[in-house]
Amino acid sequence: MLVVMQRNATEEQIRCVLEKITELGLTPHPLPGPTRTAIGITGNTAAISPDALGGLAGVSELLRVTKPFKLASREMHVDDTVVPTAQTRIGPKTFTVIAGPCSVENESMLLRTAEFLKSRGVNLLRAGAYKPRTSPYSFQGLEAEGLRILRRARELTGMGIVTEVMDAALVDEIEASADILQVGARNMQNFALLKRLSRCRTPVLLKRGLSATLEELLMSAEYLLAGGNRNVVLCERGVRTFADHSRNTLDLSIIPPAKELSHLPIVVDPSHGTGRRSYVPAMARAAMAAGADGLMIEVHPDPDRAMSDGAQTLNFDQFDALLDSLKDLAGPLKLTLN
Ligand code: PEP
Ligand code: MN
Repeated sequence: MLVVMQRNATEEQIRCVLEKITELGLTPHPLPGPTRTAIGITGNTAAISPDALGGLAGVSELLRVTKPFKLASREMHVDDTVVPTAQTRIGPKTFTVIAGPCSVENESMLLRTAEFLKSRGVNLLRAGAYKPRTSPYSFQGLEAEGLRILRRARELTGMGIVTEVMDAALVDEIEASADILQVGARNMQNFALLKRLSRCRTPVLLKRGLSATLEELLMSAEYLLAGGNRNVVLCERGVRTFADHSRNTLDLSIIPPAKELSHLPIVVDPSHGTGRRSYVPAMARAAMAAGADGLMIEVHPDPDRAMSDGAQTLNFDQFDALLDSLKDLAGPLKLTLN
């Protein structure tokens, strides 16, 4: 349920409503808005009787939230969420490019890539230090050494770091090296990990599971929001279908319903979504046109020698060409590239 306060409700009246909700054994989530405050309620297993709250001073109306996801829903939070990092913001009217290699492979390669991307105005560097690999015999990431290299890249370039966390026990260690914590597709429903990340203040980039519905993605986002982390970015990265012309089927059709049902920003990863570097630019532009808030693109100085995901990774010249075309498209779409 959503309690909408009157425009002129006092701090004291808001405090009384919060207390009453807590007394009922429920959790209040104050949502201050430009003109009035609303208070979301979670924790109820059955409908809340309007009698309990409707008569309190300063309350304007009580709205039932019909979706199973509550804090992630547009019903409860009308305005688009802006997710801030020290370097940039992800949200409406801007289009954020996150780029970098699939994995941190060594210091010189990561720093070269970071410096190149920074020189092109990219503010967020992606690279995995802990890698979720299908085969236990594949490169698993440089782990703690990879985190050290990511911190060095941040120090030298000022870029924000986006890196994956697979294990709740490693959240503290990885958080110190990250500006955005990535939850990979395979962990979208790792609820222990989501609960742990819900207690962080660091933003989370939540990738869509390999066969997850939009509702399942938003329910996973709800875990993060319910525990107190309001800074959640959704990421479409393709789903498994019968089609075999690409690694996954990049589902751009998720963007309009995600925007309708939720206030959370959504970025698109056409690298994992297609699995082929020649398909990435067209799908990146399509994502921008379809209303995404940004992109995540794999870039490497020499993709054919990459230790993971080389086939879907752009080299520097290919990234430059993509960026130029995105800049051309940003104007007519009234977006600022960042
Ligand atoms: C990644 O971004 O490096 C990655 C492993 O992606 P996904 O979880 O979408 O497969
Ligand atoms: Mn990858």
